[in-house]
Amino acid sequence: MTQVIRTALRVEGIVQGVGFRPFVYSLATGLGLGGLVGNDVDGVFAEIEGPPATVREFLRRLEREAPPLARIERVTTSAMPPAGTASFTIAPSGPNAPDGRRGTLVAADTATCADCLRELSDPADRRYRYPFINCTNCGPRFTIVRDVPYDRPLTTMAGFAMCEPCAAEYHDPADRRYHAQPTCCPACGPRLALLGAAGEPLDLGEPLTGDPLGAAAALLRDGRIVAVKGLGGYHLAADAARDDAVAALRARKHREDKPFAVLAAGLAAARALCEVDDAAAALLASRARPVVLLPRLPGAAVAASAAPGNRHLGIMLPYTPLHHLLAGAMAGPIVLTSGNVSDEPIAYRDEDALARLAGIADAFLTHDRAIHIRTDDSVTRVFRGRPLPVRRSRGYVPEPVVVPGGFPRQVLACGAELKNTFCLAKERHAFVSHHIGDLENVETLRSFTEGIEHFRRLFDVDPRVVAYDLHPEYLSTKYAMELTGVDLVGVQHHHAHVASCLADNGWPAGPRAGGRVIGVAFDGTGYGTDGTLWGGEFLIADYAGFERAGHLAPVPLPGGQAAIRQPWRMAAAYLDGLDGLGAASLDVMRRNSAQWPAVVAMARKGVNAPLTSSAGRLFDAVAALLGVRDAINYEGQAAIELEQLADPAERGGYHAAIDAENPGRYAGPERTAAPAAEAAAGPAPEAGRPFHVRGADLVRAAADDLTAGVPPAVIAARFHNGVAAVVAAACLRIRERHALTTVALSGGVFQNMLLLNQVVTRLESRGFTVLTHSRVPCNDGGISLGQAVIAAARDRLGSGAPALDS
Ligand SMILES: [Zn+2]
Ligand SMILES: [Zn+2]
Ligand SMILES: [Zn+2]
Repeated sequence: MTQVIRTALRVEGIVQGVGFRPFVYSLATGLGLGGLVGNDVDGVFAEIEGPPATVREFLRRLEREAPPLARIERVTTSAMPPAGTASFTIAPSGPNAPDGRRGTLVAADTATCADCLRELSDPADRRYRYPFINCTNCGPRFTIVRDVPYDRPLTTMAGFAMCEPCAAEYHDPADRRYHAQPTCCPACGPRLALLGAAGEPLDLGEPLTGDPLGAAAALLRDGRIVAVKGLGGYHLAADAARDDAVAALRARKHREDKPFAVLAAGLAAARALCEVDDAAAALLASRARPVVLLPRLPGAAVAASAAPGNRHLGIMLPYTPLHHLLAGAMAGPIVLTSGNVSDEPIAYRDEDALARLAGIADAFLTHDRAIHIRTDDSVTRVFRGRPLPVRRSRGYVPEPVVVPGGFPRQVLACGAELKNTFCLAKERHAFVSHHIGDLENVETLRSFTEGIEHFRRLFDVDPRVVAYDLHPEYLSTKYAMELTGVDLVGVQHHHAHVASCLADNGWPAGPRAGGRVIGVAFDGTGYGTDGTLWGGEFLIADYAGFERAGHLAPVPLPGGQAAIRQPWRMAAAYLDGLDGLGAASLDVMRRNSAQWPAVVAMARKGVNAPLTSSAGRLFDAVAALLGVRDAINYEGQAAIELEQLADPAERGGYHAAIDAENPGRYAGPERTAAPAAEAAAGPAPEAGRPFHVRGADLVRAAADDLTAGVPPAVIAARFHNGVAAVVAAACLRIRERHALTTVALSGGVFQNMLLLNQVVTRLESRGFTVLTHSRVPCNDGGISLGQAVIAAARDRLGSGAPALDS
């Protein structure tokens, strides 16, 4: 008689609502094994009985052949006495745990799968050309989930009663739609409608009567703007090849220069517009279907106004059946940009969309499946074959980032101000939210507070620790300050950037901690522990704390916010500090001569001119100097255009000195730290003063070259190379003293691929291990993750930082 064993299994991760139980069932029965499989609050459990070799084979194939949307995080096994059963059963879903605990994970929205696409284009299929086709392997998830457990009554599909054929598929374990909660068909599911600008039903007459999709495509081809209800909100669509249509969209949306995303029907269509390498193709066609920023081909058939003055285009492929059908009905690419006016959040409720987009859209292609939570498209670049996220949202959220060391207590991290995300964390999971946006208006703030409540419910997180940015004026900070009964942990902005990069890379924490690294955090602005605005920081950091080893020499920010909107003011601040420069001969001065003396005076006196070590402002100064741009209309614009101007073939670079213990001559008058900042100061600063990197040396070299007639494209390249060289030099200096060999690069400035590539190349050639982002953005969208892991590390040390109000 053959020996028989029985093994109990527990599978954790995203294993519910993704066809995992039928998969286990068919794998086990295919191998002739007995036992059972079921769901409960912690994931999937199973018992497998049979000959030892076959059980081992089952375990091997369990992870290798799991369904596409499953994400197995952990499989634990234990031996049981055999029960003598040869049959295999699917146990009914268990009740929620008696204590009301909920441990299941919700999957992200997922692009239409190949099987569904085949049905979509099969005239014999009952879902032929049905814009809401989906199955267990694809379709809406996060955007339709109102509550957990993930069951149809708790989604926005609740109002659609399944017809008989759909119900039969839903209950058949052998069917692809077994327990597919959003499953539906033309007989029982949502329907499209075409509405006019005032919300009235729109009929274009025969042959388009009763064909909202065909009619919408006809309107687009006619140069009209159509609002299209998608997965996470309304888009505004226009024929990407028609400059009149795209320019009209830009004018009506009050968006001057910021690029629009373009929907291409497939990879071949994307390749006709942009350079698409293998990594980019994989990302474009991935289940998350982000917008991928790609080098634009000369002569690409896209209107100039889609991405004015930009060498790149943001391309995405269709990710819902509706987008597939729309792309198919149009001959070419479609501009698909968020449905909002300028910087407002994207519209996602029908009434609100009709009201807010009425002045922009000529028509609305809408439907009756509600969107529960607003979710923008994700945006990413490709760096050395890996994604470099710019915005992590639809398609990725709410899948957790698994964090080494985990969270001793449950954490809420409130994030920063711009590009806000929040993060709720428990056990080993950090649930980084969808992109909330800039916390500057009531509606975004409401998305933030409602989003936190929604995540708390979905993932059953009751935070005991709340992490926030030290900036007292951030609305996210103010929100944290009003919470009671929790431990508040203030986190310095650039420390959060560096910790975010560490967590992104799975840098060890807890008992087997990875130790300290050199953190280079380059961004626009973050509140420093000394009351000045930081942003060009060299930190020695681990998860729990940091020392400020060095930074860009501070310069005045003349006019505060005005200097951020008007980069020429930064040119004035930098140029004023330089001796013997024929400044009068510079164009930037002539262009801004009316205000130049007043701005210089402001900088010198330090009136309304806070000091900043911001790297972003250094890029702004050089951009203005080179005539790239004196004023911006979206965040980071001057630096983005400076990067695009740079001649990639230029190898020369400017030299910037590093001053030890020298405040530098560009620092302006000594200032005293704001009292609030002192109270909130993190770990003790490094003994001795941080070194200063003289950014002004780079500005001087650029100004000298400009005066000598060197082309701006060459100057821009030399400036980038110079910044990269001094970053490497500063890291070498820290390595000499502290023997640290790992560098983490974070902050929005590292979205600059030319700079990032140069910095990584230089550091690696000198033997450093370099960590860059690939799961959360290096910009402020990644701050909440950094805050969460810092709060956890301090929790482990039992030394939560003192709160501002304690
Ligand atoms: Zn499917
Ligand atoms: Zn049906
Ligand atoms: Zn930042």
